[in-house]
Amino acid sequence: MTKKVLITDRFAQDSFLSLQQHNPFEVMRADHPQHLPLEHLVSANALIIRSRTPINEELLKKARQLQVIITCTSGFDHIDFHATEKWGITVMNTPTANIESAAQLTWGLVLSCVNNLPQAHKMVKAGDWKRDLITGFELHGRTYGVVGLGRIGSRVAELAQAFGMNVVAYDPYAEDKSFERLKIPRLSYEEILKTADVLSFHVPKTPETEHMLNRSHFEYIHRGLVLINTSRGSVINENDLCEALGKGWLHAVGLDVFEKEPLARTSNLLTYPNVILTPHIGANTEEAFFKASQIAANKLISFFSDGTTSDTLPPKTAWYR
Ligand code: NAD
Repeated sequence: MTKKVLITDRFAQDSFLSLQQHNPFEVMRADHPQHLPLEHLVSANALIIRSRTPINEELLKKARQLQVIITCTSGFDHIDFHATEKWGITVMNTPTANIESAAQLTWGLVLSCVNNLPQAHKMVKAGDWKRDLITGFELHGRTYGVVGLGRIGSRVAELAQAFGMNVVAYDPYAEDKSFERLKIPRLSYEEILKTADVLSFHVPKTPETEHMLNRSHFEYIHRGLVLINTSRGSVINENDLCEALGKGWLHAVGLDVFEKEPLARTSNLLTYPNVILTPHIGANTEEAFFKASQIAANKLISFFSDGTTSDTLPPKTAWYR
């Protein structure tokens, strides 16, 4: 019997063709990730989505033929698992596709912060050559703190070691072997905030990580910290961050994710010259996009050919409750 697949967001053309050619799939595309045509939704047996398509009870009520959802992302906070479990729908993601891309962007932000790249670029464009105003600092020998030593955090840690940095990490759920493999000491949250010269967050969005960096922590962070967040905006309390920036407690901040996206034009974060902002582009490389599409297409083919599943969601990990 023909299986109908609705693709709701960006998807690589090669993977689209490989699905289309795979008998007996009928592949449909939505023009907008949030406005799915009802005629497609009611008949879809499978959805391939990204984070811009929220999955909730309202949507699932309409999708009565749906058996499986594959999200081409590593995060999954756009999916209501109470609803998918209630309707008996299998959910899978593509957690390995974005590792290099997200780790690379994290490092792009680190280097932009320590070498003042946006400011330097702006100066040259404006005809200014005041090099003394944008003196950077060397990373070699300094301490890099990773919060969340999972797939992306581990890759970021390896890159920090390549820069000759002392890497430390905080992750109460990661097994000892994750730390031992990279020869990284396991620190408490307080210790890492007090010691890191550069600190980046790589945790999922959970009730526990919500505002896990707030005023109470900024009080004792290592002064002159370079702070990076490429995980989820909810992790940092932005009002408290602005307060700490106002007090001059941070050297620079690089953010790819925000409490509310897109970031409001009125956000105070826009007013600090030492805050570098990108529009949630951690997974936005050609390679990550291609890998996620290909992995999703293969998962779908396996699921409908013999019921094989992998990377099923929600994850069976201690941090997901
Ligand atoms: P992962 O599941 O491999 O790693 C997450 C790690 O966080 C795990 O080791 C887990 O033990 C740890 N963790 C969970 N709760 C914690 C807590 N309260 N304190 C400290 N550590 C905790 O995930 P990943 O693939 O490495 O992705 C990490 C994050 O990056 C996710 O939030 C994901 O959504 C985000 N991400 C963003 C982009 C982007 O475009 N900016 C791209 C890819 C991934």
